[in-house]
Formats: sequence, C-alpha cells, structure tokens
Amino acid sequence: MVEHDDDTLSLTLWGVRGSIPAPGRNTVRYGGETACFEVRAGPHTLVIDCGSGVRACGRALARRGLEQIDVIFTHTHMDHICGLPFFCLAYDPAVEVNLWGGHIPPGGTLEEIVERLMSPPIFPVATSALNNTRFRRFKGGNPITLGSGLTVASTRLNHPGNCCGYRIDWRGSSIAIITDHEHGNPKMDAAVAEFVTGADVMIYDAMYLDTEYPRFVGWGHSTPTQALALAARSGVTTPVIFHHDPDRTDDALDALGADLVRQMPTAEVAREGQTISLRGGERIRESVKGIVTPA
Ligand SMILES: [Zn+2]
Ligand SMILES: [Zn+2]
Repeated sequence: MVEHDDDTLSLTLWGVRGSIPAPGRNTVRYGGETACFEVRAGPHTLVIDCGSGVRACGRALARRGLEQIDVIFTHTHMDHICGLPFFCLAYDPAVEVNLWGGHIPPGGTLEEIVERLMSPPIFPVATSALNNTRFRRFKGGNPITLGSGLTVASTRLNHPGNCCGYRIDWRGSSIAIITDHEHGNPKMDAAVAEFVTGADVMIYDAMYLDTEYPRFVGWGHSTPTQALALAARSGVTTPVIFHHDPDRTDDALDALGADLVRQMPTAEVAREGQTISLRGGERIRESVKGIVTPA
C-alpha cells in the first residue's frame, strides 16, 4: 500500500462510471462501479459521493476503525447516491457519519431525498436504521468546514438539478473534483476554470466523445477534449477523465487514453481501485487495488 503521512494528500477512486453500474468482462480493467471517491488529507478522511463504489469503500474504511467520517455529495442523481443504503458505516452506531449536500434548492433537504430513496416500495429499510448519521447542509459555492475540521472549497457546476465541484488543498498539494458538468455556459465555465486553477490533479466529467456530444446537448456532461482544454487554460498538471459512459469498454478507454496522452502527456483515464497520492504537489508512489507501481 502507499504510505500515508500528515503531508500526504491522496485520492482513491472507488467508482469511475457514470449513469449506471456496468459490470462485465468489457469493464474489468477500468471498473464498473459508479461515482465514489475517498480523499485522505493528512489525518482527515472524507468520502465524496455514494455511487455503487461506496460499498467497497465502506468495507475498507471499516477496517481502519474510524470514529467519524464526512460524506459530501456532488448531487443526488442515482449514480451518485445508489450505494448509500449499502455503506456499512452509516449503520454503525460507533461511527459518526455526517452527510453533506450543497446542491439542493431552497425548500428541499438532503434528508428528504435520502428518505425517498430508502422507503417502500423502493427499499426495505428506512433512514431510521442509519445510526449516528446526521444530515448537514451548506450553500454550494461556499467552503465547507467538515466535522473533522478540514475545509473543502466548493463551486457550482452546470448540470440538471445542480451539482457541486470540490477542491481539497493540503500542504502544497491540490485535487479538484468536477464530476458532472456540461461545458458551454461561458459564465460557469469561467468560474470552473478559476476554481481548478493550478490544481495538481483534476477529475473531470468526460462522459461523451466529441462525436457523441451533439446528440446529448443539455444532458449535463462534457468531453475529453474539454478536459484537456480546461487543464491547459487553468494550469492543471494532470487531468483525469472520469464518469465513463457505461457502454465504454476497456479497449475503447485504452484507445481514448492513448489519444489523450499524445495531446497532453500527463492526462489520465480514471481507473477503479486507483489511488493517486501527492506530497508537496508531487506525485508519489501509486497503487491500483493495493498494487503499488512507481509514480
Ligand atoms: Zn453522474
Ligand atoms: Zn448527474
């Protein structure tokens, strides 16, 4: 495993797929689970999104014996919340779980949305089973100080029903997470460009290829070409394309990655199980599903 000390900022990708889980022989290498990230900033641990990947994430966190965990949602579309009822820490009375949402319009609450997900006839167990879990609210665009004391910056993204992007800066390293965002709104694009400026690593929604995008204008997603353009515009070192279309096969993602690297050698394709670790803004040893490879 990658060693983690107080100066390390790391990001583990527990789910990199968009829309719906996509298990099967064509998605073994990049993974079929939907959006879920674990961020570790020195002693702080947080989870971003509870797509189907949060089930395995929760099991891994349980082994670490945490007493408190913050979970921030980018938004509450199914691919980002469907794993919440299977997040084991949320049922553990010994763990304080804070669930944060900043994308919800006035009048609504995160609790109400989770109650809709966890109620008959959709789900057999009600939110009352979520021991020691608290629903927290913040205003998207504002920084949030989490239960652990870590402050995370947020920005609003262009996505149907609202969405928040996040940025974690820790001891000279920075990671920006832009999960679901459609380019093309000049004001929001400028705000996102400013938000990610100088990030060492940027996760970016690249669901559609350039040839596919015209059929999906208004669906709330972007392209690999836009990921590279934004990285160049904002001085991002490593753009990591994310929110893979459920029909995008491993071979297609290999080809896409090779094409991106030709244009920008530091670009990467998000891979389930991958841990990206930074110290002082520099990448340190990497691992995929616990297998360490040189940075
Ligand atoms: Zn999504
Ligand atoms: Zn969405």
